[in-house]
Amino acid sequence: MRALLCRGIIALAAPLAHSTRAQPINPIVREGVTETISAHVYVIPDGSVPLVPNVGIIVGTRATLVVDTGLGARNGEAVVREMRKVTRGTALYLVTTHVHPEHDLGASAFPADTTFLRSSDQVKDIAAGGLDLARQFSQRSPFIADLLKDAAYRPATIVFEKETTIDLGEVRARIVAMGPNHTLGDTIVFVEPDRVLFAGDLAMKPQPSFMNTASTPAHWLATLTSLEQLQPAHIVPSHGPMGGIELIDGYRGYLTTIQTRTADLKKAGKTLDEVIVIETNEQAKYPDRARLSGAIKAAFAEAP
Ligand SMILES: [Zn+2]
Repeated sequence: MRALLCRGIIALAAPLAHSTRAQPINPIVREGVTETISAHVYVIPDGSVPLVPNVGIIVGTRATLVVDTGLGARNGEAVVREMRKVTRGTALYLVTTHVHPEHDLGASAFPADTTFLRSSDQVKDIAAGGLDLARQFSQRSPFIADLLKDAAYRPATIVFEKETTIDLGEVRARIVAMGPNHTLGDTIVFVEPDRVLFAGDLAMKPQPSFMNTASTPAHWLATLTSLEQLQPAHIVPSHGPMGGIELIDGYRGYLTTIQTRTADLKKAGKTLDEVIVIETNEQAKYPDRARLSGAIKAAFAEAP
């Protein structure tokens, strides 16, 4: 009887364990695929693999700036090797679009003399969240856990408040802290004269993800206006396909729709839970329901 029961449990447990295990993700920054975007800008494309960022390499005659590191030191090492293939000057700068693990936790692999820039909001994000998200990622698979096993946030060399510009020689990188959107500490990098915008998670093909309680659709929409005013010729989002101004337009349309509809439903007396059900049915074309409800929650909190 006991043996039968055990076998029953095993038989039940096995397919369950199988089905709850999502497709294995091996978030590796690929080498040898670096693309030339403009006269001074290169990108290691993410191939739309989850937990891999599009990594930027901006090369001037004096110095090079890398944007985002990949997940953990092993990926950071791959980024450094790709950077060395295209670099011209000797000085090296590093900035991250935000402090989530796949953007920032490869920084330890960069040379000791790297100038690592952080916004003060990114420092606040690290103080608030620590390695919580890295621990969550590590639970997804042994492979990811291994990538993150010794991960720690590398201290910044320079902490800036709102904005800083680096002259790399022939090319300048304007780095701007955009306030609370995806995180508190989202930064964008605008490369002049190439007019390439590294938009972080603030304008991408995948749906916007609200992961900071202070974030509102109104602020995100104002951010999009600021990005558009830069008149970028190329937009490199931190995930997914690169493109142009349509990435900004896509986010504007999505956020405006949710902001307007949520405010109307709240005004009509609907609760947050009711609003989420109604809009999730209406917006069935958007596949990421968690991100959709996150946007609705932010819009509901913002609405009068
Ligand atoms: Zn993120």
